[in-house]
Amino acid sequence: MNLLNFMSNFADEESCVTYLKEQRERRGVVCKHCGCTEHRWDAHKRCFECRNCHSRQSLRSGTVMQNSKLPYRYWIATMFLLMSTKKSFSTEEIRRQLGHKRYQPVWEMVCKLRDVMGKRDAQYSLDGQVELDDGFFTTERPEEEKDTPLKRGRGSHKKSKVVVMVESAPSQRHPRKGKPSKVVGHLKMHRSFRT
Ligand SMILES: [Zn+2]
Repeated sequence: MNLLNFMSNFADEESCVTYLKEQRERRGVVCKHCGCTEHRWDAHKRCFECRNCHSRQSLRSGTVMQNSKLPYRYWIATMFLLMSTKKSFSTEEIRRQLGHKRYQPVWEMVCKLRDVMGKRDAQYSLDGQVELDDGFFTTERPEEEKDTPLKRGRGSHKKSKVVVMVESAPSQRHPRKGKPSKVVGHLKMHRSFRT
C-alpha cells in the first residue's frame, strides 16, 4: 500500500473502525464468557455483543490496542509509517506527524507495535548460510526518564548491544568490482542485554 492508497482507504476514524471490525470478523469473534461465535455489532459503542449471553467486547480488546485511548487512525497510520519504508522513524517524529501533544502515549503505542512486529518476525526461521555480528545501537527512553544522568561510552544507558543475524547467499549476478558478491535475505536482530 502506498501513501495515496493509505490516504483514501483510511481517510477518517470511521473507515479505520470499519477496516478493523472486518479484520476481526474475518478471524472470527469468540465470546470470552460463553464461547459463542455469533455477535451483533454495536456501531455506537464500537463493540461486539454476544448474541447468547450479551456480554460485550470492544474492538480493542485482545489486540495490541487494548487499554489505549488513542484514536484507531493513529494506530493504523503508525503501522503504515513503521512498515512502509526502510527508514526508521523516531517516536518524536511519529508524534509530530500525528500532531499529538503528548509524547508518552505515542511512545507506548510505538513500543507495543514494535513488540508485536518483532514477535511476528520471531516466528520466521532463518535458513541457509547465516552470518552473525553485533553492534551498539542508540535506544530511546521515555520522557520521564530523560532527567536521569547517563553514563558515558559503551556502558551508556542510551546504547543497547544488538546481535544481528542475517541470511546470506552468493549473488547469482556476475560479480563486479566493488560490488558485494552476496545477497541478503531476512535478518533478525536481538538485543542481548541492556547496559
Ligand atoms: Zn457470550
